[in-house]
Amino acid sequence: MTANLLDFDLEGLAVFCEGLGEKRFRATQLFRWVHQRGMSNFDDMSDLAKSLREKLKVHAHVAALPILSQQFSKDGTIKWLFDVGAGDAVEAVFIPEDDRGTLCVSSQAGCAVGCRFCSTGHQGFSRNLSTAEILSQLWFAEHFLRKHLNQTDRVISNVVMMGMGEPLQNYSALVPALKAMLDDHGYGLSRRRVTVSTSGVVPMMTRLAADCPVALAVSLHGPNDTLRDNLVPLNRKYPLDELLSECTRYLEKAPRDFITFEYCMLQGVNDQVMHAKELVQLIRRHASQGLRCKFNLIPFNPFKESGLLRSDDATVQQFAAVLLEAGFVTTVRKTRGDDIDAACGQLAGDVKDRTGVADRIAQQRAVPIQWHASTPVINTPLE
Ligand code: SAH
Ligand code: SF4
Repeated sequence: MTANLLDFDLEGLAVFCEGLGEKRFRATQLFRWVHQRGMSNFDDMSDLAKSLREKLKVHAHVAALPILSQQFSKDGTIKWLFDVGAGDAVEAVFIPEDDRGTLCVSSQAGCAVGCRFCSTGHQGFSRNLSTAEILSQLWFAEHFLRKHLNQTDRVISNVVMMGMGEPLQNYSALVPALKAMLDDHGYGLSRRRVTVSTSGVVPMMTRLAADCPVALAVSLHGPNDTLRDNLVPLNRKYPLDELLSECTRYLEKAPRDFITFEYCMLQGVNDQVMHAKELVQLIRRHASQGLRCKFNLIPFNPFKESGLLRSDDATVQQFAAVLLEAGFVTTVRKTRGDDIDAACGQLAGDVKDRTGVADRIAQQRAVPIQWHASTPVINTPLE
């Protein structure tokens, strides 16, 4: 099998070129053809020596994932469904805004974390994507969009690892993909404009800070361990105090001076004023150690199997008001691409439940969610 050049960051490509008996700087030229120009045919790479092109034809190829569908929303959002084989598929979403173009990228087929409110989580884990499979979402989208919008300049200015999967549970494939995004010979994205979103894989946050410190978003969703254990099962392994201490340490290396905390607003579950107050207390404790953050409240995108509902606007505003009053910058995320199911947590692909996670979540649902660590009041969310 020949190597897919989308599997390499620049350093990896240099090693590959050396293996072909070529000088390292050839890798830079090749990297630019592939990522900046979107080329996959070696014969079109005119400034590469003919001998190198011949070697590449024998030993390498450039291949993006096959596309199963492409959907255009009224608001300009575009969603692609990519085939990753064996009946699995992953999604990427382009979200245009006045001052930026954001691509939401997937890192895994399915997800092993199994968050109760996430449709990817409900489908269980199928497999990790390779670097090429992660990067080809950006490679394809960028060059497709340039043609589609008839533009020669870069279209995608921001990447968020907020598609399907937990990126920090696919660390070894993620990091080269991030490096290619940041590389000036690749996509040249600023570290501030590449965001890894995590449900809180603490040891991998430490490694990311050392290896490739990009902007970090942490999916919080609950102000205490009891509630968060139930919503984000990974919390049982890495509880809130440990997670928030790691967030504080991450800031020493981070390109931005704050962590974004994502908080999905679930009606009657985590959206009450008392939760907001508890959240303020929790963050204040860590702020005294140096934690700086912003909150992004995400309206829940409901799907039937979750048994959960979206908080109403007034509740979201009340919750936001408590955080704002405490001095935290807080935004409420706009939902985009509603007509094509492109919003957070709706990315479903076609992943089969091979791990029985749907059953586990169904069992979890049978256990009512506790509202508050110290309050034995039980709320069964609208079933
Ligand atoms: N696994 C990573 C990144 C992918 S999920 C993480 O959990 O952070 C990206 C974001 O979408 C997370 O903040 C996640 O909590 C949120 N999300 C998942 N399901 C959702 C849903 N149904 N409605 C709204 N947001 C959701
Ligand atoms: Fe996985 Fe993130 Fe979905 Fe949780 S919210 S199941 S970590 S993709």
